[in-house]
Amino acid sequence: MTNSVAILGSTGSIGTQAIEVAQKHGIRVTALAANTKVDALVQQARELRPELLCIADESRYPALKEAAAGLGCRLLAGMDGLCEIAQHESTGTLLNSVVGMVGLLPTLTAIGANKPIALANKETLVAGGALVMQAAADRGLPIYPIDSEHSAIFQCLQGNKRSQLKKIILTASGGPFFGKTKADLQNTTVEQALNHPNWSMGNKITIDSATLMNKGLEFIEARWLFDLEPDQIEIVVHRQSVLHSAVVYQDESMIGQMGVPDMKIPIQYALLYPERLPCPTKPLSLTDYGTLTFAKPDYETFDCLTACIEASRTGGSAPAIANGANEAAVAAFLARKIPFLRIGELVKATLREIPSAPLTCYDDVVAADQAARDFVAAQIAS
Ligand code: MG
Repeated sequence: MTNSVAILGSTGSIGTQAIEVAQKHGIRVTALAANTKVDALVQQARELRPELLCIADESRYPALKEAAAGLGCRLLAGMDGLCEIAQHESTGTLLNSVVGMVGLLPTLTAIGANKPIALANKETLVAGGALVMQAAADRGLPIYPIDSEHSAIFQCLQGNKRSQLKKIILTASGGPFFGKTKADLQNTTVEQALNHPNWSMGNKITIDSATLMNKGLEFIEARWLFDLEPDQIEIVVHRQSVLHSAVVYQDESMIGQMGVPDMKIPIQYALLYPERLPCPTKPLSLTDYGTLTFAKPDYETFDCLTACIEASRTGGSAPAIANGANEAAVAAFLARKIPFLRIGELVKATLREIPSAPLTCYDDVVAADQAARDFVAAQIAS
């Protein structure tokens, strides 16, 4: 297990739970970074006294300077600050839980500095999976997944031969609109889309869960993390979010990981690996649930899911394009500039319009991402 952790995205849902886990197990928190929330960040710093404190939104740096005066932390800002934390000598494990493609460069920087990664930033692998996995493999560095599904798969792979894995079952809650048709979803409001049945999360991932983009991103993420072909991933809708995912071996044994829907379990496994110590969460009572259900996903209604699977098959920059288009479209939906169903239409249209190109370096990923965002912006403006 790790002795110290630097947390990017410390004021978000994963970040705050990671702090709780770290405190429970005496893991030192050496750096904290937030996007915009200066007050919450400084509150955390007052308690944890990290060496480094970073606000990603540079315009808030003066506010951070004022609020953090006297705390004795070195103050940083922007992407440079995130990357400085990623490679700093005090960083044991880098826990990356920022939202969006912006997490890619800090992840690559940390790998370059030989830091193990606890990864909750799925867009990192979706957009730049080839680069990240190659860089980590070159240095023999582990990437511990914090996404609940990927943590489940990672756990189910322990103690078995990877070469004897047949496929994985990626479970999906189905989101708040399970069972709905496109006609039902015409007038979906931001508030309805933000009302997730099982998980309490940030706005971006909650919208991604409502469109099933989140499951599409996780499909791509799983391919990279576990080196799978698309045909080796089966998505199954499981409404209760108790079976977090499963793997199937060649002998047709299916091994799954179950638990209450609480991110502290995957966060703790990533930070304490391979230890399994008491976790600040509720025990799972199967008899309280009584029934667990499983169904096929609705690929007709949820365009984003289909688009991601297609992008994954296409390869190259297609996943980065899908991700960039989605990030721009979700921001526009949350700003009430486009209707809900337009998110999926825009992701599909962007993939049709921008051809996939090979990804050989970070700049290729950034270019694909930017082209997708520009296309979506132009579509919304026209
Ligand atoms: Mg997940």
